[in-house]
Amino acid sequence: MNSIVLHSLAKLLQTHSCANADARCQKKRAADDSLICRVQRHPYSLRYNFNEREQLYDQDTLDRLKYLDLGDVDRKTQKWKPCKALRAGRWQYPAQLNEHFIPTVPRLFVAMQACTNEQFCDRKFQVSYLAKYAAGVDEKAQVSFTHTLNVPHTIDAHVHSLVNQKISGQALKSSKKQSTSLAREMPLTEMIWFCAGLPYVTYPTDMTHVSTMPPEYRYAIVKRQGTITRVAGGGGQLLPVEARHGLPEWRRFTQSQELTMQDYARGTYYIDGTTGFSLRPPELLMFDNLELYLKWFTFKSLPRQQQYVADDNLDACLWIDGACRRIKLRHAHVSDACQYIIGLLADPDIHNTHHAQHVHNAIFHRLQDEHNTHS
Ligand SMILES: [Zn+2]
Repeated sequence: MNSIVLHSLAKLLQTHSCANADARCQKKRAADDSLICRVQRHPYSLRYNFNEREQLYDQDTLDRLKYLDLGDVDRKTQKWKPCKALRAGRWQYPAQLNEHFIPTVPRLFVAMQACTNEQFCDRKFQVSYLAKYAAGVDEKAQVSFTHTLNVPHTIDAHVHSLVNQKISGQALKSSKKQSTSLAREMPLTEMIWFCAGLPYVTYPTDMTHVSTMPPEYRYAIVKRQGTITRVAGGGGQLLPVEARHGLPEWRRFTQSQELTMQDYARGTYYIDGTTGFSLRPPELLMFDNLELYLKWFTFKSLPRQQQYVADDNLDACLWIDGACRRIKLRHAHVSDACQYIIGLLADPDIHNTHHAQHVHNAIFHRLQDEHNTHS
């Protein structure tokens, strides 16, 4: 690429536009909540300038720094000032009138031919930026793409803000409005690392987040309404238990499940992972490992109007747990679950073997066959 083309490409990519940045550059002004662009505009100048920021620390911090003797009295102003390493400011770049560019390192621009934002910074900001960007952008942030109708061959990348999936309320909130993401955000450092073929270290451990503390120490969400009427009927009976009344003994909820169900239906909190495990549908009781159960299956509340149902036919029966959640097996774990059941068939515990045999014959045997033909 010749220098003229590169130059115009730089001008195109490194010129800041709030619209192109999808307004990510906007921040609220403290005074009146109005939005301002935080990409710095550099005044018309031919040289680099450093503007020290006077009010970097609050009085409390200043007093502490003074106590630690990390500064001196300024000769000119006779005021106490933090030492050089703790002073900070902003560099201003040479700029033309009305130019609003994003500073970069020319060599880096030539190598990447993409918009990069690189700024001179002092020790203080180096440290705070490093702390902020040590891991680059958050690699867990998901990105979705939409195409712009009016502009051909252009797509918009939208980076979703991160939500802490471990906090149920936040996870719920975000699951409602999120469009499907196709990518994840990737920091420049990672790209360069990858391009240079440097060794990659990944973490091989798979985590399942669930609290196994006693119920009183678990996190949970306080219910909005009192009794869960879909589980606890008016006359004190439990509807999921009733629905399974005519089924063989092993396909009914156990005594302790009934107690847990009572507690859940009439108690103060919504269900948590461990309680959900205790309330698994009787057909899945043989999956008696909390971690595997949470990893292999998915859980979704039945629609509000839908009553608890349990079919006589084992292979037609939906898996609905004691909290009225529909349980499905994840596609990726069909084989694991089949192997698990087959393992149980050889189990010396007759009780388990018997149920596993039923479930295997009616469901998993066929499931494994279907899975094998598809994969
Ligand atoms: Zn802007």
